[in-house]
Amino acid sequence: MRTLHWFRSDLRLQDNPALTLACQQGAVLPVFIIDTDEPPESAVGAASRAWLDRSLRALNASLGGGLLVERGRASELLPMLCQRYQIDAVTWNRCYEPYAIARDTQLKQTLKSLGCVVSSCSGSLLYEPWVAVKKDGTAYRVFTPFYKHCQANLTRRSTTALDPAGQDWITPESATDIEALGLRPSPEWDQGLLEHWVPGEAGAEARLSEFLASGLTDYRVGRDYPAERSVSRLSPHLHHGEISPHQILKRLQAFPTDDNHEHFVRELVWREFAYHLLYHFPELPHRNLQSKFDHFPWTDDAERLAAWQQGRTGYPVVDAGMRELWQTGSMHNRVRMIVASFLVKNLRLHWQHGLRWFWDCLVDADLASNSASWQWCAGSGADAAPYFRIFNPITQGQRFDPKGEYTKRFLPELAAMPSKYLFEPWNAPAAVLHEAGVILGENYPQPIVDVKASREAALEAFAEMKRRAAL
Ligand SMILES: Cc1cc2nc3c(=O)[nH]c(=O)nc-3n(C[C@H](O)[C@H](O)[C@H](O)COP(=O)(O)OP(=O)(O)OC[C@H]3O[C@@H](n4cnc5c(N)ncnc54)[C@H](O)[C@@H]3O)c2cc1C
Repeated sequence: MRTLHWFRSDLRLQDNPALTLACQQGAVLPVFIIDTDEPPESAVGAASRAWLDRSLRALNASLGGGLLVERGRASELLPMLCQRYQIDAVTWNRCYEPYAIARDTQLKQTLKSLGCVVSSCSGSLLYEPWVAVKKDGTAYRVFTPFYKHCQANLTRRSTTALDPAGQDWITPESATDIEALGLRPSPEWDQGLLEHWVPGEAGAEARLSEFLASGLTDYRVGRDYPAERSVSRLSPHLHHGEISPHQILKRLQAFPTDDNHEHFVRELVWREFAYHLLYHFPELPHRNLQSKFDHFPWTDDAERLAAWQQGRTGYPVVDAGMRELWQTGSMHNRVRMIVASFLVKNLRLHWQHGLRWFWDCLVDADLASNSASWQWCAGSGADAAPYFRIFNPITQGQRFDPKGEYTKRFLPELAAMPSKYLFEPWNAPAAVLHEAGVILGENYPQPIVDVKASREAALEAFAEMKRRAAL
């Protein structure tokens, strides 16, 4: 049998159930397609494109240079490739974005009508998003019961292994040309981003090993401190499928099931929950899950949005986060929550602005996790932080970056500011600013909003929303 394996969010050889199945069936043609039919909301953002470029190169190398890459409409390219390479069967691991579900359902029918056997497998999630449902058959909207249900009731598949050297790969007619996919939006920028990462299966494996050796032991507490190296930084690898959550859990088995272990598993299940929400509420990326938020009086201020995007708000922990994002393609989770709260509450700009900016700048940009997290931060989501709980960017900085190491790493202009004033430089005496070489409004901005007044305005807007929704 000749099988085409369609790589999508599963850019790995190990624990790849659909690829393993293809290899068991006989000769395999490995294919990757940039699907130009994808709607903008799920078409890969700029930072992820840079990642994808490197990841595909790594995958191609592990396949001995035999990855067939194409750009175009997947719905036309796949049937065409099946005919050209006399393919009998097609395999893929399932994707769960609403567009991908619709496309794959249609493609399955088309390929079957051409005489191909089509098999889809579960490759990127611990649990299929439709299996964890409440007793009444409806979807979970709250994380903790979802988590408990998964832990108590669901079994996970075992991992699979593959020896690429022992497989019968079908060689593409032309040499692999990843450059021709045009994935790198700005070579200078993505060069900078990728200095912080090693995309690809080997990079993911190395990242996991490093985390297990030095991060896991302090995960529960350390995960909230952005200057610490306690988090795994596995999210872009997971998003691109360079490692599966099953592989991570398997490696975790060698470690004691203490609080750190449990917290880490819990975070992995947050990712599952995001996919569960996206599957059951496909409008998650566009619409407030709580419809009362349709009445929220958002502001519309392009200058403030640009200041937020560029890390010029005058609030050091917010600016450090936004610059971390621009420079590294990522941002620590604690800081993601702080900058998101600042955008939707202190600036009262719609969460969609934040979602879109993150989508373009994150190397782990993920439709499910990004949408669910923005709705969580905005208060409009299923299981959301209440809108009236507003992060104070000054105290958050003082609490979670007490020595200012993280903030100063991304704001070198504040390197000499004493910790006492680091998160509120406008309150520093003139002599302290002078000594630190900080000139507010010149080499570091004045705050673009007053944190207290904007908090009150946000609470008033929330009350206004409730009044409007009740009409
Ligand atoms: C506004 C906002 C936007 C976000 N956008 C994304 C996104 O586009 N893609 C993305 O992968 N994560 C997103 N997150 C969730 C979270 O910030 C990242 O998953 C986490 O920072 C990744 O770092 P890590 O791999 O070191 O995580 P760790 O703490 O090591 O956690 C391990 C893994 O668990 C998963 N995970 C952890 N926290 C969450 C969470 N809150 N929601 C879903 N999965 C989680 C990730 O896959 C992560 O790699 C967002 C969070 C916020 C507040």
